[in-house]
Amino acid sequence: MILANQPERQSWIEVTVDCDFPIQNIPFGIYQHPVKGPSAATRIGNTLIDLPCLAQNGFLNGTGAEPTVFHNNFLNEFIALGQPVWRAVREIISEIFEAGNPLLRDNLILRSEILSDATTAEMLMPVKVGDYTDFYSSIEHATNVGIMFRDAENPLLPNWRHIPVGYHGRSSSIVVSGTSIHRPKGQIKSDAGEYPVFSPSHQLDFELELAFVTGKATVLGESVSTADAADYIFGMVLFNDLSARDIQRWEYIPLGPFLSKNFGSVVSPWIVTLEALEPFRTSGPVQQPEPLPYLQFQGKENFNINLEVLIRPESQPEQRICSTNYKYMYWNMAQQLAHHTVNGCNINVGDMYGSGTISGPTTDSFGSMLELAWKGTKPIKLADGSERKFIHDYDTIIMRGYAQKDKLRIGFGEAVTKILPANK
Ligand code: MN
Repeated sequence: MILANQPERQSWIEVTVDCDFPIQNIPFGIYQHPVKGPSAATRIGNTLIDLPCLAQNGFLNGTGAEPTVFHNNFLNEFIALGQPVWRAVREIISEIFEAGNPLLRDNLILRSEILSDATTAEMLMPVKVGDYTDFYSSIEHATNVGIMFRDAENPLLPNWRHIPVGYHGRSSSIVVSGTSIHRPKGQIKSDAGEYPVFSPSHQLDFELELAFVTGKATVLGESVSTADAADYIFGMVLFNDLSARDIQRWEYIPLGPFLSKNFGSVVSPWIVTLEALEPFRTSGPVQQPEPLPYLQFQGKENFNINLEVLIRPESQPEQRICSTNYKYMYWNMAQQLAHHTVNGCNINVGDMYGSGTISGPTTDSFGSMLELAWKGTKPIKLADGSERKFIHDYDTIIMRGYAQKDKLRIGFGEAVTKILPANK
């Protein structure tokens, strides 16, 4: 039993019922301390907890994490200390902030040093991402794309039910929530045109994804089994894998996506640990045909996580255009990691692995504009009377996600990005 996950535990920090960050969450992130610079933090409710300061005052003694590891540009060093340390830090934070513990609660001077307003904190990238892989693991998404672009009778390619299909993406353009992204330019070829033109993308899209972050490295040649995968996963973030569909269509043959996918991917700033998500494990779809032995697994490897996408046009209120759930994923994280390493490919702490666009079975649960507006044939009507086939300049894309079981809610916060016009 993970003590920090006890659902009845309450904090002396105020937490509203619809808050993503109760005392059972204890996510990890990096924020810009106004004086000390980038520092590790966690949060309860809307209160940010400075981890270097907590550690310097002795509160994290015995966890195996020195204060210096938290005074850092990224969480990688902390994560590399290993699962027993992450677990000990979560446990001790849970105890410090438990409602009945007076130690910090009644020390107003220390409280003013350690605690601050999470809603106004400048959040930074939580990890230095060495390598980034994106999967294609939602059967609803892969089917929709197959129907639109290939063959409505046989939308899935022959390999799809056998391999968690993926590609190596680019880590340099993964940015934290709040970062604006300029509309990309590139080669676009229309069906009618003989040659491509160079132009800003006309089909800028989001992809609603969750990404997991690895917390343990392997050496070249080593493989991770589905049974051991959870030991290698630190946690998860919301992931908006921005995509330019018109650029993608022309460039992707034969080696897959390139410039249509690497101009910006936006993550939520708080890494929610796999440990905090344990209560939300659930079974995934039945896999037929049975996968090869190295992809088989025991137990519940999917997670019940509600997800939504909202669009906020300039000077307009936000409007939800998609709500879905991570539990629909055909291939789970354990299978993705087992497949990724089965050939001996080594992984590192802080690597990021996108799920692929998460679509559900209904038309309002599709995780991209491509599917929601069905290749532009069914534009989405917004409250201001405008329509969207794809994303317009100055639109803000907001992704949110949370898991809920009885009164316990563990959430991710937001991944937000505003699309700016193409650079001159
Ligand atoms: Mn993607």
